Amino acid sequence: MATFGNLSDRLADTFRNLRTKGKLSPADVDGTVREIRRALLDADVALDVVKDFTGKVRERALGDEVNKALNPAQQVVQIVNEELIAILGGEARRINFAKKPPTIIMLAGLQGAGKTTLAGKLAKWLAKDNHTPLLVAADLQRPNAVQQLQVVGSQAGVAVYAPEPGNGVGNPVKVARDSIKWAVDKQYDVVIVDTAGRLGVDADMMKQAADIRKAVQPDEVLFVIDAMIGQDAVATAKAFQEGVDFTGVVLTKLDGDARGGAALSVASVTGRPIIFASTGESLDDFEPFYPDRMASRILD
Ligand code: GDP
Repeated sequence: MATFGNLSDRLADTFRNLRTKGKLSPADVDGTVREIRRALLDADVALDVVKDFTGKVRERALGDEVNKALNPAQQVVQIVNEELIAILGGEARRINFAKKPPTIIMLAGLQGAGKTTLAGKLAKWLAKDNHTPLLVAADLQRPNAVQQLQVVGSQAGVAVYAPEPGNGVGNPVKVARDSIKWAVDKQYDVVIVDTAGRLGVDADMMKQAADIRKAVQPDEVLFVIDAMIGQDAVATAKAFQEGVDFTGVVLTKLDGDARGGAALSVASVTGRPIIFASTGESLDDFEPFYPDRMASRILD
């Protein structure tokens, strides 16, 4: 993935050096850990996450599992792989569907994070899997947001619930609440509620998202984060966790060439799993997130 290209290259160099050695001395381990630490920091992975990660790798690499291994360097790579999977959330987590439909999925995140695009991607993906999703335009902040969702809905071939002029305009909580009744009535089995974002974390926006959350009682609240926002990712994620208590994370713009390490820290810092990854502007550039596959891509 372009976002992690540089990190991948740096780690590959580190491991290439390591493989030239037979038994590893504590100095070899420390040198390797130092290089990994620098590569992660340069990729914008959050400092606390890096410290924790390198601490665990170092402890394990100095222990018996490496000392007694037939191929110590390979064993260190394996440890880095396992710890990377752990940072990324461990086991893959899929959407929790409601026992009794509709399953309600709310999207939250900053403006430009890719929520509206994601709403279309997710709806299309669900529709392919025989679900009947309904997109809900509860972002009434941005002038074109409702229309943008309608365009995305028609591209995805799914229905969109949007406020009628004069009915609920300006009141996203009412739109969201009414959409659920509509979905039950029309038997849509998944409701995806798009909400407003701002360019930065903002108290009004957060309150609105929290009010929508309270009104619709979602089964999932997905925090959508642009992998390119760099160091701000961690603070933004913490603010949204406090404000709306999201249940999962979606990383977007993984196709970009900015350093994506900060976004990689989000699962670890919030304890919430990354559930999907978005890798382009087309509605098909979307995939479920698997921590082990992502770790392999980074280490390949
Ligand atoms: P919102 O404000 O959170 O609803 O964000 P939008 O869905 O409007 O997306 C903002 C911009 O990012 C749009 O131009 C999208 O086409 C673009 N975008 C969304 N997801 C991705 C992605 O995964 N990769 C790339 N390259 N662009 C994306």
